[in-house]
Amino acid sequence: MEKKNTWETYNESQLRETDVFADQYRSFLDAAKTERECVDYVVNAAEEKGYRELQTVIKEGGSLKKGDKVYAVWMNKSVAMFRIGEKPMAEGMNILGAHIDSPRLDVKQNPLYEDEGFAYLDTHYYGGVKKYQWVTIPLSLHGVIVKKDGTTVELNIGENEDDPVFFISDLLIHLAQEQLEKKASKVIEGEALDIIVGNRPIVLGKEDGSGQEDCGCENAGYKADDVSNEKKDKERARDAVKKGILDILKKNYGVEEEDFLSAELEVVPAGKAREAGLDRSMLLAYGQDDRVCAYTSLRAMLEVEETDRTACCLLVDKEEIGSVGATGMQSRFFENMVAEVMNLTGEYSELNVRRCLASSCMLSSDVSSAYDPSFASSFDKKNVAYLGGGMVFNKFTGARGKSGSNDANAEYLAHIRKIFEEENINFQTAELGRVDLGGGGTIAYILALYGMNVIDCGVAVLNMHAPWEATSKADVFETKRGYEAFLKGACL
Ligand SMILES: [Zn+2]
Repeated sequence: MEKKNTWETYNESQLRETDVFADQYRSFLDAAKTERECVDYVVNAAEEKGYRELQTVIKEGGSLKKGDKVYAVWMNKSVAMFRIGEKPMAEGMNILGAHIDSPRLDVKQNPLYEDEGFAYLDTHYYGGVKKYQWVTIPLSLHGVIVKKDGTTVELNIGENEDDPVFFISDLLIHLAQEQLEKKASKVIEGEALDIIVGNRPIVLGKEDGSGQEDCGCENAGYKADDVSNEKKDKERARDAVKKGILDILKKNYGVEEEDFLSAELEVVPAGKAREAGLDRSMLLAYGQDDRVCAYTSLRAMLEVEETDRTACCLLVDKEEIGSVGATGMQSRFFENMVAEVMNLTGEYSELNVRRCLASSCMLSSDVSSAYDPSFASSFDKKNVAYLGGGMVFNKFTGARGKSGSNDANAEYLAHIRKIFEEENINFQTAELGRVDLGGGGTIAYILALYGMNVIDCGVAVLNMHAPWEATSKADVFETKRGYEAFLKGACL
């Protein structure tokens, strides 16, 4: 079958639009490296476009009519947006869904320790990562520390140019003979993914500064608050680097070591999204799985006007670990919000909610692996996505004989083809890779539980799940166009 390259289909003005859109997408990626940051971004963007918070409308005893726009946030990590259409909601919605969590390293609950002069934060990786890719690159720390009194300290360290960054060490090549004999999955083990956060001992001594030489560190700049006897001095010297870090945490953020117990801190690659290639055709950035689909869905949702069916955009957490938990797709959060919205449009009944969900059409968006000529044998060239080949549809995902897959209906695919061809959207169909080589899932199967039409689709990504992932600017723009066409379209 003939495949078109999106770049070749664009005229001058579309090429310009593609670049502008890519710049906006990059600033989103820089501002939203975690699911919480994503939700903040979405809420701000939605409110600017006249969306109101669902809970506020409920509290004020308001109602919703066609053209009204509301959003609902769940635990600061998932968000759903609704734009009420002309037709009753019971006839179904057009839903765009994507996930906003990405593979990363999560800081453990008791993380801070010192070993031979280094202070570390112990981590547990989140989602599927090749652990060896995370060593020796600059890392940043994002997240929240919630104190017992309920106040939240937000952290974002390592993104500004004058911020410090963090890193995980690797063994020098000169001594790596044994290490390099190991399997790639064992070269760096999960428990070795601890980030170095300090190397300078706190200054020991009395309040007047005497006894500073005890610690043997002329350049040390931190001073213990209260040291009253020699025994204490020695105890402190043992963990002087860790104490220095605690001192900084206390002074800069007002947090104690125990506050790590109620923190969600995520370690992600530091640095901004970049254009890639001399021709600037690509984007290289952390977390494009799946924020590339989240951003394009969001933009389509914000820009679409006057739809027949109610338009919905659903951006959820926890996909990378199985869509579990209160903020994952398996939670009843979405169903509950649909019931609330229908209550405000005056349509609520148990039966109407069921009818609405069953009659909905959904694009469940996640990234697709792009064909990589350097690893050609891992793909089926006829059934793989190509960078620059346009928006991707995956009829099915899963592993070992489609296990765990949604497998969209042929009738639904035909319907989507028609919409996309009418709007001149360039698209391609694909599966993840060669049969029996691996596999993966998405949120599609969970929405399909309601009996609605769902298909997996999204954007092709090269080196997916690596600290830096690559996409084509043309695919990003084309996907946004595709989502708009879908929201405006009919359903089966
Ligand atoms: Zn994903």
